[in-house]
Amino acid sequence: MDNRTAKLLIIGSGPAGYTAAIYAARAGLSPVLYEGSQPGGQLTTTTEVENFPGFPSGCAGPQLMDDMRQQALRLGADLRWGNIVEADLASRPFRLVADDGLTIRSEAIVVATGASAKYLGIEGEEQFRGRGVSACATCDGFFFRGKRVAVVGGGDTAAEEATYLAGLAQRVFLIVRRDRLRASDAMQRRIAQNPKIEILYQHEAVRLEGDEQLRRAVLVSQRGTEAESLTTLEVDGFFLAIGHKPNTDLFPTLATDEGGYLRLFDGTQQTNIEGVFAAGDVCDPRYQQAITAAASGCRAALDAERFLAQKH
Ligand code: FAD
Repeated sequence: MDNRTAKLLIIGSGPAGYTAAIYAARAGLSPVLYEGSQPGGQLTTTTEVENFPGFPSGCAGPQLMDDMRQQALRLGADLRWGNIVEADLASRPFRLVADDGLTIRSEAIVVATGASAKYLGIEGEEQFRGRGVSACATCDGFFFRGKRVAVVGGGDTAAEEATYLAGLAQRVFLIVRRDRLRASDAMQRRIAQNPKIEILYQHEAVRLEGDEQLRRAVLVSQRGTEAESLTTLEVDGFFLAIGHKPNTDLFPTLATDEGGYLRLFDGTQQTNIEGVFAAGDVCDPRYQQAITAAASGCRAALDAERFLAQKH
């Protein structure tokens, strides 16, 4: 095959994409993988990963991803810099265009483009990302044992993250924009019964402050007079739980659920288009962990292998 054709094209280089490449390369599919604008994916934005099995003392996110990359390369995957900017899935072979203008035709595709956490866009948020600001309590909560943290959001995810963090932190402030929670009744009861959680209704964070690390969140209250409206919360952690946006803009013909996550069929990684598979956070609103993304990358590669064997 030349560089314009592939049996399997993988889009994305997080744990899902690299794992799919490792499995597909070992199966002799000579996969082509486009790494996108964030080679290595989300884990490259974190320092310590303590929950990926096989590393008794934890590991650095960028190192873990580079190791996965090297493993895929060694097994023969064709890893390419750049983004896929166009995808025509109307007929096979599928037609994909990379940002350098190259058109690639591929018999099968694995979409592993991830999901991006939504941030508030307030002052200090970017500056303290990874130094107090996080969008993943399961990932980073451990670093805030015995400390004071804030969680932003009013839905089930925010309630779950607050409850999870309350098991680790000394105190959890749940910052809710509205005058009530959107979380389920059961979650609301759990929150209400937890003495470590304080809900700040009708509050919004407007600024984050600190030195090397986050130290304070400045909130504005929609209640009371203007003079009373600013509150400063001393916190070491600030967790966003206002949702994720799956990266699916390229694929308007792929079926999604109400949250925009790719839908899977028949207990496999198959999407609604035969020959197009999905893996990782882009099709997983629930778990969103490196190990679950890697596992679904493995499943997608095995599904693609079976599909290609049946078709050819
Ligand atoms: P991602 O890692 O999101 O990768 C998506 C990939 O798609 C990227 O490489 C991107 O460049 C590529 N891409 C997107 N669009 C295109 C395109 N058009 N063309 C080509 N490529 C494209 N999980 C844990 O298990 N443990 C942790 O400790 C942990 N810590 C975390 C800390 C932080 C700060 C964050 C943000 C997440 C953390 N996670 C952790 C979650 C974990 O990183 C994700 O669940 C996992 O990375 C999802 O993998 P993925 O392969 O689905 O996608």
